[in-house]
Amino acid sequence: MKFSVASSVLICAVTGTYGFVTPFGVKTSNNFNRIGSTLEAVPKSESYSVTILEGDGIGPEISTATKKVLAALTKRCGFELELKPALIGGCAIDAANSPFPDESLAQCRSSDSVLLACIGGPKWDGNPRELRPESGLLKMRKEMGLFANLRPAKVMSQLVDASTLKREIVEGVDVMVVRELTGDVYFGAPKGIDTDPVTGERVGYNNMIYSESEVRRIAKVAGDVAMKRGKKLCSVDKANVLDVSQLWRDVTIDVMEKDYPEVDLSHMYVDNAAMQLIRWPKQFDTIVTGNIFGDILSDEASMLVGSLGMLPSASIGLEGPGVFEPIHGSAPDIAGQDVANPLAMILSAAMMLRYDLARPEEADILERAVEAVLDKGIRTADIKFDGDGCRLVGCVEMGDTVAEIVATV
Ligand code: NAD
Repeated sequence: MKFSVASSVLICAVTGTYGFVTPFGVKTSNNFNRIGSTLEAVPKSESYSVTILEGDGIGPEISTATKKVLAALTKRCGFELELKPALIGGCAIDAANSPFPDESLAQCRSSDSVLLACIGGPKWDGNPRELRPESGLLKMRKEMGLFANLRPAKVMSQLVDASTLKREIVEGVDVMVVRELTGDVYFGAPKGIDTDPVTGERVGYNNMIYSESEVRRIAKVAGDVAMKRGKKLCSVDKANVLDVSQLWRDVTIDVMEKDYPEVDLSHMYVDNAAMQLIRWPKQFDTIVTGNIFGDILSDEASMLVGSLGMLPSASIGLEGPGVFEPIHGSAPDIAGQDVANPLAMILSAAMMLRYDLARPEEADILERAVEAVLDKGIRTADIKFDGDGCRLVGCVEMGDTVAEIVATV
């Protein structure tokens, strides 16, 4: 059945050419090797080994701040976190002529978790695609089987006015978007631009395709995430038009009924979801969706918060370490000026503690410390507004202040 769906796309897309197509993607094993659920890469331990990928631009600055905060946390809570550096992005191209060298991959794979800052910059923009920093990220996701992307959008009460939406709409918003990351129309075969032999016209095509096992494993991640949050899950698809979405919906219902009966599951078409996220975002707790819909909706959800410098994310697979990173890029326009906001990376470290390292209480401490620093009226430039009465600080002072709070509260 899978093949006939795919081959019918092939026939229609390339006008008369027949062929079988298999879904592209990472392994679709159903062995969920994460501990207890699809979350938590390793059990709670007294010592962890974490790879830190500092990357480019503001990456080293926000990494330094995050390392200080983690040092304060481990000292306070009495456990070890060995942070081992490795290269990715432009710095890796410069040092090893590869945006994600095999040594970095091997080190990431053998770690308990991976913390990434950000990559990229104008220096490498003119490089051939395989020597672009972004190719390193794609290689990392593919080689590490990171098929689930978790993007929280939590509006902190202290920063409500950073959003472009009205206070009453965004106040209290706390949404988690679980996006499938390695399938869908971005990776489906066939794809390309061909010339129609009859009309001579060029035809561009991609294949929106999901196998049942791909949907099942992301639905399980979403079920686990929803269980750790408000037990409310909205699956977003386009089942009124797309066959692939009908499969998505059927499989999601099956997984939830069997494995997560406590989770309140609803469904929404993607066009409505895009509207509802702006109209009344507080109706959502956890959202699960495919790669392309999730790409768009997670960016939309991040705008509810208003500042790129506050938003963490996680990418996880079936087994092995996840990668935890801010959603922002390397901000070359402010690199080296001590003005970057390190809070998104600090919050990414909190996600790592919660989702990979089985240390939810320690994750709470970091998140509370970030709230506390905002309560004190301390702001980096990206979250400082005229007349807000707050004190402007740089990246170093912001990191130091969070570390002090972590050590003392
Ligand atoms: P960007 O996210 O780097 O910057 C957008 C704007 O937000 C800039 O004005 C920047 O100064 C500001 N900004 C971003 N992070 C900030 C922070 N922590 N504190 C304060 N201000 C912050 O996006 P861009 O400018 O489109 O891309 C720059 C480079 O980053 C490009 O090479 C791009 O490919 C790369 N990029 C990497 C990632 C990643 O590492 N995952 C993601 C997006 C973009």
